[in-house]
Amino acid sequence: MSVRVVARIRPLLKAEAEKDQILSIHEANNGKPQIVKIPNPKSQHEEYSFNFAAAYDATCTQQELFDTEVAPTIKHLFQGFDVTLFAYGVTGSGKTHTMRGGKSLADRGMIPRLLSNIYRKSKALEKASNGETSINVSMSYYEIYTDKVFDLFEPPEKRTPTGLPIREAEGGKTVVAGLSEVPCSSLKEFEILYDKANANRSVGSTKLNAESSRSHAILCVKVTISTATETRASTICAIDLAGSEDNRRTGNVKERMVESASINKSLFVLAQCVEAISKKQSRIPYRESKMTRILSLGQNNGLTVMILNLPPTKAFHLDTLSSLNFANRTKKVEVREIENEPIFRGPPRPPTAATTNGGMARQPL
Ligand code: ADP
Ligand code: MG
Repeated sequence: MSVRVVARIRPLLKAEAEKDQILSIHEANNGKPQIVKIPNPKSQHEEYSFNFAAAYDATCTQQELFDTEVAPTIKHLFQGFDVTLFAYGVTGSGKTHTMRGGKSLADRGMIPRLLSNIYRKSKALEKASNGETSINVSMSYYEIYTDKVFDLFEPPEKRTPTGLPIREAEGGKTVVAGLSEVPCSSLKEFEILYDKANANRSVGSTKLNAESSRSHAILCVKVTISTATETRASTICAIDLAGSEDNRRTGNVKERMVESASINKSLFVLAQCVEAISKKQSRIPYRESKMTRILSLGQNNGLTVMILNLPPTKAFHLDTLSSLNFANRTKKVEVREIENEPIFRGPPRPPTAATTNGGMARQPL
């Protein structure tokens, strides 16, 4: 099984002109829209074609994208498999719109829809089991900013300047030590928690996008299903990566440049990892950045979907071409289905630290 890479072209914004559009979507031999075409920046008569698992144009709604790309993964999650979902693209391409989305119901992104779906499914399963099955949802949310990991459930003033350490845990998974894991049992509760956490993100205005966040945001939702005989937990991680643009074009001063350099370094390392994997090299440079260590693409992600966000216009030509090239290599990355072993056999256990310790559990430091 390989990473499922799908492209999503965002609509033109008010300030953008129709005539500046450079991307088009075409049907593959199977009659499905899967091909994205872009002119060669050096020779406008020549076009490059990229073939993905699916390609969505500007008319694609959040609902549609969720139904076709995210909803099917939830079934796997409830069967005990891990899932990774990430958005890749230049700043201004629609990553945050895709993952988080807007306030209105129709604009809600993949993450709130994912949670809504998980809660709905949990309730239905609990009800159908006549009280035999209980399902708990908990989550961690952190950002990686200038190669440091910060807990987004902690206010910024509580941050240690060096960030949280990363450890290898059992089963080869990489974990962030000291990260809070917060139980969250309803969509309402999630929305409050998520909005508050998003306000804790490190943001800076750049030339490309004033609202852009320069950090990678990683939300991990753990679903624990307990039956009379076993308890099984699986995790879905939803990642809104920092902008993939070449920092030489953002033209920013000092601090921004430091940020930009390390953001670009982690995405550069990610590209190197993907290249090494696609060439079947024995050494994959995961350890060269925190983001790639944690993501460990192709190692421990389980079912993986990458949404390649694309802005439609000429202003992004070179960055869009390099995003397309990256995505083209990513689709060759093989991932393994990870079926989590039951963590406990027997009746459900009494409440653990997660429910007694002020609602917070932590990975040991
Ligand atoms: P990124 O997170 O990649 O920097 P954003 O998600 O902030 O990009 O999107 C940039 C702008 O485009 C925002 O104003 C956003 O509302 C708008 N946008 C992105 N995708 C869509 C979409 N599918 N439909 C409508 N507006 C969109
Ligand atoms: Mg964003």
